Amino acid sequence: MYLANEQRYEKMLYNRVGKSGLKLPAISLGLWHNFGDVDNFGTQREIVQAAFDNGITHFDLANNYGPAAGSAEINFGRILKEDLLPYRDELIISSKAGYYMWPGPYGEWGSRKYIIASCEQSLKRMGLDYVDIFYSHRPDPDTPLEETALALDQLVRQGKTLYVGVSNYSAEQTAEIAKIFRELKTPFIIHQPRYNMFDRWIEDSLTDVLADEGLGAITFSPLAQGMLTNRYLNGIPNDSRAHSGSPFLTEENVQATLDVVNQLNTLAEKRGQTLAEMALAWNLRQPTVASVLIGASRVSQLEDNLKALNNLTFSPDELNQIDNILSKLAKN
Ligand code: NDP
Repeated sequence: MYLANEQRYEKMLYNRVGKSGLKLPAISLGLWHNFGDVDNFGTQREIVQAAFDNGITHFDLANNYGPAAGSAEINFGRILKEDLLPYRDELIISSKAGYYMWPGPYGEWGSRKYIIASCEQSLKRMGLDYVDIFYSHRPDPDTPLEETALALDQLVRQGKTLYVGVSNYSAEQTAEIAKIFRELKTPFIIHQPRYNMFDRWIEDSLTDVLADEGLGAITFSPLAQGMLTNRYLNGIPNDSRAHSGSPFLTEENVQATLDVVNQLNTLAEKRGQTLAEMALAWNLRQPTVASVLIGASRVSQLEDNLKALNNLTFSPDELNQIDNILSKLAKN
C-alpha cells in the first residue's frame, strides 16, 4: 500500500493563482505524454508517486491525452484508485475539452453540447465526482465565446468542477471571456498557455491581461518538450520524444536549436544548475506564472526539475545573457 512521504510539504513552493484563493505548486505534472496505454504503467505510477511525495499536488490531464485518446485519464484514474484517493483533498486535478475526441459535429471545439458531454466522460474515466479545474482547451472560431463560458459556468454550478480556465486563448479572447465570467461570477482563475525560452508570445500582451484581470498562468511545455534540457546535447536518444515520430517534436526541431541550447547549457552550469532547472526558474520569474507544467518520462527527470526551486533568482546580467543567446536563434 502506498503511503505518502510525510515530508512532502517541506520543500515545495506554493504560489497563489492570480487573485484567487487557490495555490498551486510552483512545479506541476502534466500527463500529455508518457501516460498513455503505449507507456509502461509501472513507470507512470512511480512518476506520480514521486511527484506527490515531493509536494507536487497538481496533476494536469485532458480528454484526449494518451494515446489512445482517453487512456491517460483511465491510467491516472487507476493510480488514484490504487494509491492517491485517500489524499484526494490534497490534490488539484484538472482536465480539458477542446480537441478532437469523438466523431461527428459534437466531438471537439467549444459548443455547450461537447463541453458538458466531455467533462462527464473525463470524470467517468478518472473515477471522480468532480475535477478541481476544467478548461476550454482551445478557442472555437465558430461558437460564441458566451456559449463556451456558460457551459463551463454550468459545470461549476453542477459541482463537476471547482474552478475553470482557458488554454491557448489569445490576450484579446482572454479579456473578452473574462468579462463574461465576471458577469456570471464564475470562478475563472487561470490561463494555460505555452511559454518557454523559444516561445515568448505571452510577454507581448497576455501577461498584462492576466495581471489586469487578477488571473494566474500555468505554463505548458516550459522545457520546449525536452529541447531546453541536456536530453539532446549528445545526439538524439532512441527513447526520446524527438525520436518517437511525434508530430509535435521532430529531430529537425532539435537540430535547429542545438547551438543555442549548448550556449544556454554553459550559462546554466555557471549558475550551478542543469539547463532544465534554469529553464524552469526562468519561466517562474514572470509574476503572473503561478506554476510550470512539466512532463517527465522517468523519475530522474522529475527529480532534476524539482531542483529548479533551489535557485530561482536571476541577475539582470544573466537575463541579458539569455536574451542575447536567444536572439541568435531568431536570426538563424
Ligand atoms: P516539457 O516541456 O516539460 O517536456 C517534457 C519532456 O522533456 C519529457 O517528456 C522529457 O522528454 C523531457 N524532460 C523533462 N525533464 C527533463 C530533464 N530534467 N532532463 C532531460 N529531459 C527532460 O513539457 P510537455 O511538452 O511534456 O508538456 C507538459 C504538460 O503541459 C503536458 O503534460 C500537458 O499537461 C500540458 N500541455 C498542455 C497543452 C495545451 O494545449 N494546453 C499542450 C501541451 C502540453 P522525453 O520524453 O524525451 O524523456
